[in-house]
Amino acid sequence: MKVYRTQHYIRPDLQAHIHSKDLLENVRNLRSLCPAHTKFCAVVKANAYGHGITEIVNILQKGSVDAYAVATFYEALHIVSLTKKKPILILEPISPVWSVEQIRISAREGFECVLSSTESLHYVTSILSGTSLILRVHLKIETGMGRCGVDPATAASLLEAIEDCENIRLAGVFTHFATADEDDLSYAEEQINRFEQFLNTHRIKERRKVTIHAANSAGTIKLPHAHYDMVRCGIAMYGYYSRRMANPPVPLKPVLQLQAPITQLHRIPAGHSVSYGRSFIPTRDILAAIVPLGYADGYRRCFSNRAQMKIGPYVAPVIGRVCMDQVILDVTDVPAVQAGQMVTVLDNDHNSPCSAYALADLAETICYEILTFIHAHVNRIVH
Ligand SMILES: *Cc1c(COP(=O)(O)O)cnc(C)c1O
Repeated sequence: MKVYRTQHYIRPDLQAHIHSKDLLENVRNLRSLCPAHTKFCAVVKANAYGHGITEIVNILQKGSVDAYAVATFYEALHIVSLTKKKPILILEPISPVWSVEQIRISAREGFECVLSSTESLHYVTSILSGTSLILRVHLKIETGMGRCGVDPATAASLLEAIEDCENIRLAGVFTHFATADEDDLSYAEEQINRFEQFLNTHRIKERRKVTIHAANSAGTIKLPHAHYDMVRCGIAMYGYYSRRMANPPVPLKPVLQLQAPITQLHRIPAGHSVSYGRSFIPTRDILAAIVPLGYADGYRRCFSNRAQMKIGPYVAPVIGRVCMDQVILDVTDVPAVQAGQMVTVLDNDHNSPCSAYALADLAETICYEILTFIHAHVNRIVH
C-alpha cells in the first residue's frame, strides 16, 4: 500500500474531553436492552463520530464490545493494531474500485467485508483464487434503505455462489433501517418483514457461523425484535438518541465536551460593529471575548449571532459572524471573566444551551453532523 506522509498536528488549546466512564456506561446500558447472546458492534466510523477513533477504540477495548464497524478499508487498517483480533466490519461494500492489494490485505487481516453485488463477488474471486487467502463477507440485503444493498433475488444467487468459492466465507447477513429513528415505525417493520422473509427462505438462522444483524442505535433502542445476533451502535454509544427523545427507555450521557480558551478580552463601544459583514452592532458598551476556533475547526458559520457557549455556569452569546478560526462572545454579564479561562463550546449535557442537539437545531441538521465536524486537530483528552 502507498503510505502517505501526514501533515497532522494537534492544537492543545482546543480540548475535546472524552469521558471513558460515560462511554462504557452507554455501552452497558445499550447492551442491557439486548438478549445476552446478542453481540455489540461499536460503530467507530468518521473518526468515531468526531470523538477520536484511536482514543475511543482504546477505551472500548476495556469494555464489553464484540466487534467494530468502520466506513472504509482505511479506517480498518488504522485501528487493526488496537482491536486485538476483534472483528472489524467495513461497512462500505467491496467493489472493483478496491485495489487488488486492498482485497488481499482485507483477507490477510481478517477484515469482514460487505458484499452487495455479483460483480464484486467475481472481482474478489478473481483476485483470491489460487491463493490460500479467505475473505469473510457479510451479505447486505436491500429491504428498503435504498442505498447499497442487494435485492433478495440476487442475494439468493450470491448465497449459492459463495458456497462454491473456496476463498470466500459467509460471515454475516444483514440489512440497514431507513427510518428507525422516526416516531412512525411502520416502514421499519416492513423492512424487518422483508428481512425475515429472506432469512427464513434461506434458513439463515440455522447457520451457526453466520451473524445476522440489522439494528443501528435507533433500532437497538426501539426495535427489540430486530436485535438478532448483533447490534451496530454508533450515535447512542456516544450518548445521543438519533434525535431528542422525550421518554428514553435507557439513559445515555454525552461522552464529549469541547472547550477552548478565551484568548483576548475587548471593550466594544455601543454602535461599533463586530466581525465580518457587520452583522452585530451592540446597543450598549460590551465586553467581548475572542475564542480561537471557527468554521475550519467544525464550529459552523451558521452559528453566527445564534449559538451560545458556557463559561462556568454562565451563558455567553456568540456575536457577529463566526470566522474561519475565531469566534466572538458577549461576556459583559459574565462575572470575573478573564483571558485564559476555558469556555465550553459543545457541552456533554443534553439540556445545555450548547449541547450537540441545540447546535444541530441551529444548523438545521442532526447531532451526527455537529459531532463529526469536530476537526481531527482538536486535542482529545481522555478522562
Ligand atoms: C453508521 C451506521 C450504523 C450506526 O448508526 P447509528 O445511528 O449511529 O447507530 C449502523 N449500521 C450501518 C450500516 C451504518 O452505516
